[in-house]
Amino acid sequence: MSFLTLTGVEKTYPDGTKAVKGVDLAIAQGEFVVLLGPSGCGKTTTLRMIAGLELATAGRIHLAGADVTTLKPSQRDVGFVFQFYALYPHLTVAQNLAFPLECVGMPREERERRLAGVVGRLGLGGLLSRYPRQLSGGDQQRVSLGRALVRTPAVWLMDEPLGTLDADQRLALRDFIREQQLDLKVTTIYVTHDQEEAMALADRVVVMEGGLIRQVATPAEIYQRPATLFVASFVGSPGMNLLKGEVEADGFRPDGVDMLLPAQAAPQPATLGVRSEHVTLDGPLPGTVVLDEYLGAWRNLHVQTACGRIVARVAAERPHRVGEAVRLGVDPAHCSLFGADGARL
Ligand code: ADP
Ligand code: MG
Repeated sequence: MSFLTLTGVEKTYPDGTKAVKGVDLAIAQGEFVVLLGPSGCGKTTTLRMIAGLELATAGRIHLAGADVTTLKPSQRDVGFVFQFYALYPHLTVAQNLAFPLECVGMPREERERRLAGVVGRLGLGGLLSRYPRQLSGGDQQRVSLGRALVRTPAVWLMDEPLGTLDADQRLALRDFIREQQLDLKVTTIYVTHDQEEAMALADRVVVMEGGLIRQVATPAEIYQRPATLFVASFVGSPGMNLLKGEVEADGFRPDGVDMLLPAQAAPQPATLGVRSEHVTLDGPLPGTVVLDEYLGAWRNLHVQTACGRIVARVAAERPHRVGEAVRLGVDPAHCSLFGADGARL
């Protein structure tokens, strides 16, 4: 059996809201799993049921071989990492960091090794003798995240822990979380609505929509072979270009365009998905440039075509004029096809 399993887990709140509608998930020991999805899709509720802060209204949760479905949070060996945590105001940074380890009676040598790791990774060396009131908000957040992640429960549960930080702090703390997790090998479930954060952190990503899991896979698989139209458009920046059309006997024909793309599926209405980096400027599909975004290493060229707006990632060097006529192509080896129900064909 896996280290952490959810079997048919549901949550209906007392007001009748069905927040989680039947989740099956098996997580291996030491795995870093990210729950990804838009606001309201049931990520926090799922995490809180694993923590024991909410009780599942159906299904079972097993952790480390035991059925924990109805256990109190204190009876489960989980560390819940919130977005805001208060530091102890009367303790220094060093004392704040050491406190959780002293509480569990960790031997001095191991404690000092752990603390040195956290202090080094977070760059807190110069702040150890300060009190929380002498720290900036960002530094307080770093210390509190460090304090949460020196401890090694069976699982770390993190609910958007970087939510309020500015971009450079987010990146630094994201690296800290992953390095600390790789070092201590604590099984981790991390919730975010930020697809880039999910891709960067996860061994496997769980994409949720409307209380249901839509796909569980590695970041590469999620990105390259999305299981549904929703996953295709939610993951990636920008999301996949989606062209409505029809699979015919000899290929896929986008609506309103006289061109055929190779496609391996039975004839039916379908949507073709292609990432911006697999759209070329040497194809048969005519279009007009509506926006040219310069992004340093490349440009995102937004092109209006007869089958909708398409974003092409093109070389940074040459700027394009709004109104310019271009002819787009797609790399057939990197196309996804979705049926009328939204599922991958
Ligand atoms: P997420 O974390 O993905 O944004 P949540 O798990 O917080 O989603 O919420 C899922 C759904 O459950 C939402 O529709 C939300 O409004 C609803 N919800 C969350 N908490 C409660 C509650 N205590 N009572 C009723 N509905 C709730
Ligand atoms: Mg949430």
